[in-house]
Amino acid sequence: MTITGSYDIVIVGGGVGGLALGYALANKYSVLIIEARPRIVPSKRGLSLQANGLEALQRLDLLERVAPLGVKTSHVAWYEIGGNLLADLDYSILDHPYSYLLTLVPSELERVLRDQFSRRGGEIQESTSFREAVLHYDNVRLRVQRNTSSLEYSASIIVGADGENSRVRNGLNLPTKIRECPDHFLFMLARPLDMLQGQARQYFARGKMVGFFPVLGGTYIFYYLPAGRIDDLRARGLDAFKTELANIMPEISGKLDRVTSWDDIVYVAPKRVSVGHWVADRAALLGDAVHALDPSWAQGANMTLQDSSVLVDTIEKCFQSGDFSANRLKAYENARRKQTTFIQRQSDRTARLTTTENRFNYWLGKQIIRRTARNKTLMQAALKASAGLTDHFSLREQLRFII
Ligand SMILES: Cc1cc2nc3c(=O)[nH]c(=O)nc-3n(C[C@H](O)[C@H](O)[C@H](O)COP(=O)(O)OP(=O)(O)OC[C@H]3O[C@@H](n4cnc5c(N)ncnc54)[C@H](O)[C@@H]3O)c2cc1C
Repeated sequence: MTITGSYDIVIVGGGVGGLALGYALANKYSVLIIEARPRIVPSKRGLSLQANGLEALQRLDLLERVAPLGVKTSHVAWYEIGGNLLADLDYSILDHPYSYLLTLVPSELERVLRDQFSRRGGEIQESTSFREAVLHYDNVRLRVQRNTSSLEYSASIIVGADGENSRVRNGLNLPTKIRECPDHFLFMLARPLDMLQGQARQYFARGKMVGFFPVLGGTYIFYYLPAGRIDDLRARGLDAFKTELANIMPEISGKLDRVTSWDDIVYVAPKRVSVGHWVADRAALLGDAVHALDPSWAQGANMTLQDSSVLVDTIEKCFQSGDFSANRLKAYENARRKQTTFIQRQSDRTARLTTTENRFNYWLGKQIIRRTARNKTLMQAALKASAGLTDHFSLREQLRFII
């Protein structure tokens, strides 16, 4: 097969991670992004960027473009459904320049990243799916499918930023563990709520959790439901579901008119991915392709952005030395693995204690949330971790959360 094009770098996947990496590399190298979707589809959900993701965007020289897309929130108030305030998590106590959440609509973020990538001369091939990669002595060749045509590209290095079901990862035969997370979610966008000025709210009860976060011109709602319950919920009807949301937070009742059918609500069954090696000769993986995680810490996109900002430096060094071996690329994996593993584990733990039907776990989760909210040092430790600013809890901190 003849080669359709040669590039320094081919990135498979034009999500947040692939686009941010492509943008950072495109001012020095020729970069092609292969994207399976035909276009950007407007998201029906929100995405919270935290201190680590905002810091990575700053390093990638993108924060100035992204900041106007989101709404800043420094307080997340946790209520028991039908009950009192359990905790007011105050992000402004973090000793960090980005001591807040920035919540935006992910398709808006993609639009800006794409625009910036294209301005730097990067190319995107849409409606194009990665099929396989073959390693040659001095390059890597990729076979892709666009409509009915099979095309081939060559590159010095390929990056798999193609999400939790990564085909690049499968093609590299890397040892991988994938499991479905026990907590499933529904997402939707409602009209704006005046009461959510600078704050977000999460309501929970045993086996139930609902979040209301402000985004530009609207309110992002997520609703947890245990695995296997979606058919029952839909069978009860959309009006019953909207009434349930309004019973939890009465102020939302007049704001749900944009949600006119189940098509306005996205159902997600998230996966958790861990991979034995993140790199191979002339290949690296980033983002959900290597560490998709339970969404309870709202960290997936943030960690993807951190991956991108580290991988840029490693790839530059590969070009400087002419060495694209797994050994050389390992520096990237070494810099990122510890924090991503820590956050994956903590997210699993939080999910077990907050989105749970288990009586004891629910009671324990409430105790930990109350205790964290009452003690500023503990709240600082918890928020520092959940905002992606550390890769461990000290033994003392671990004990203080529970005793
Ligand atoms: C319920 C839920 C809520 C979340 N909330 C948050 C949050 O508040 N904050 C946060 O930081 N994270 C959150 N996340 C996680 C976040 O959405 C992901 O971690 C992030 O989008 C991962 O980015 P990525 O670029 O690695 O992968 P993706 O965004 O999945 O992008 C992968 C891209 O690759 C393309 N692709 C796939 N296969 C191929 C192929 N064969 N060929 C070509 N292209 C291909 C896809 O079309 C896609 O565009 C949430 C996730 C879930 C499930």
